[in-house]
This record gives sequence, structure tokens and C-alpha cells, in this order.
Amino acid sequence: MTVPTLTLNDGRTIPQLGFGVFKVDPAETERIVTDALAAGYRHIDTAAVYGNEEGVGAAIAKSGIPREELFVTTKLWNDRRGADDARAALNESLTKLGLDHVDLYLIHWPTPANDKVIETWETFATFREEGLTTSIGVSNFDHRFLPAILDTGIVPAVDQIELHPQFQQVETLPLLAEHDIRIEAWGPLGQGKVDYASTVVGEIAAAVGATWAQVVIAWHLAKGHIVFPKSNRAERMAENFAAKDIVLTAEQVAAIDALERNERVSADPAEVN
Ligand code: NAD
Repeated sequence: MTVPTLTLNDGRTIPQLGFGVFKVDPAETERIVTDALAAGYRHIDTAAVYGNEEGVGAAIAKSGIPREELFVTTKLWNDRRGADDARAALNESLTKLGLDHVDLYLIHWPTPANDKVIETWETFATFREEGLTTSIGVSNFDHRFLPAILDTGIVPAVDQIELHPQFQQVETLPLLAEHDIRIEAWGPLGQGKVDYASTVVGEIAAAVGATWAQVVIAWHLAKGHIVFPKSNRAERMAENFAAKDIVLTAEQVAAIDALERNERVSADPAEVN
């Protein structure tokens, strides 16, 4: 089976399963993204702050894969706010990536202490009109931060938020559904910090002949989340990619749903500025 695609609220399509490069060493990024493209991934999620956009760009250029077959996301870092600085930052990212546009540009964090976030978001709509990015969205804007964004009348195509079985963002999901905003689940495997293999995930993995990581990815896909698990290792890239072919029963999905306990593994967006 090919990777499923989802349609965004702006009419664009996105591959539901991609590859993330958070904490991928810039010096190794070209090799790692080359491996990911060889494994079949066509959707790459990076960010200015990861420091590895050049490696992503080099891998894309050398791959020879037609641009229109790729979906590339990058993100505006927290110290770049306001119309002029955001524009300069996007241009820097495009230069590093070697691209004339990205498919998706995100505000990385809501940075509640900065009063220029709304101006920045309004500028994102301009970037979309100019074709510098095809779609625009936000990241880490949970139910506390989304209303101010929605008040502008510019609806994000996606919200990229920490989400995995023990932290399912139950307060934010209804708002996203109401506005047809797609969920991008970051840390989809709990960043390797949660022992999901010892939970019902491990039992389901044994039952379906898959690994725990594949079962968690298959759960995300069944829930309609966009995911881009990260691994530096080619065999895990292939393992994670193969999760697209695993179909869980409604009972198995519900059993994983029941792991929710409102426990994040990473930063609270209210505390990141
Ligand atoms: P993840 O949940 O994808 O976990 C990655 C870790 O899981 C790996 O380092 C490895 O230790 C482990 N792992 C991967 N595949 C495995 C397998 N098959 N078996 C066992 N262990 C495995 O966490 P992540 O990298 O933080 O999140 C994925 C992507 O989401 C990132 O690379 C990045 O693109 C994005 N992200 C965005 C934000 C944000 O603020 N917007 C924050 C974090 C991550």
C-alpha cells in the first residue's frame, strides 16, 4: 500500500506518514534523509531551529525526486517575530533548503510572552498568497493558544502538537475538529521515553506480528493523525514506514485510546518563549 494522503482545509494534500529530523545531527542529516527517501518517505518535517535544513536540502537535491512528489515542512523559530523578521527567516530557510517554496510553514511555538505572534500569523497568510509556502499552520498551539489565532479569521491547515497514546490532547482536539484543522502528532512514539511495549501496545504487537512502534504508528494513522517518526537508523526507518500496511481493529484502537493519562513527555507550550 502507498502512504495514505489527507486533504487539508485549503484543498492541498499531505502524505499522512513522513519523516521528522528533530535532533538529527546537521553533519549527518544529508545521509539520514537520503536513507529516509530511499526507504520511501516523501514527507520531511524539519525546522529552522534544528539547524539541519541544509542537510535536508542537499539530500533532496541529490535524490533526483521531482519536487512535486515531495512534501517539505519547516518552522519559524521563537526569536523571529513580526512581519519583517518572519519574512527574513523564511527566506533563510528556503535558501538553506535550496527550494523556492515549502509545502507547509509553521509557527513553531505560541511564545505567550511575545506580543507579535498575531502579526506574525497574519504575515504567514501573505507568504501563502505569494507562493513561498503552499500551506500554513501552527505548532504547539493547544486549546489555550488557538482561539487568538482563529480570531484573525486565518485558519491554520494543521496544528503540530505533542500527541501519543498517554497524551492525546483531549482538550484541544474538539477545537481542531470544529475548524477542520488536521492534527500533526509530534513525538508520536513518545520520543522513546515511554515504555509502550509493556502496555496493551505490546500485546497488540504480538497479536498482529508487528513491533510496538509499528502499532503506535498504525494507531495514529487510524486516528487520522499525520505522523513523522524520527530515527537515525535505516532499519527503523523501514520498520516505521511499513506501519502504513498495518490495520488495527476498532477494539485495538480503543484499547490504545484507553492509555490516555494526560502525561506529556516534553515541554508545556505555556512555558516556552
Ligand atoms: P518520536 O516519537 O518520533 O521518537 C523518536 C525516538 O523514538 C527515536 O529517537 C528513537 O529513540 C525512538 N524510535 C524511533 N523509531 C523506533 C522504533 N521503530 N523502535 C523503537 N524506538 C524507535 O519523537 P520526535 O523525533 O521528537 O518526533 C518526531 C518528529 O516530530 C521530530 O523529528 C520533529 O520533526 C517533530 N517534532 C516537532 C516538535 C515541535 O515542537 N513542533 C517537537 C518535537 C518533535
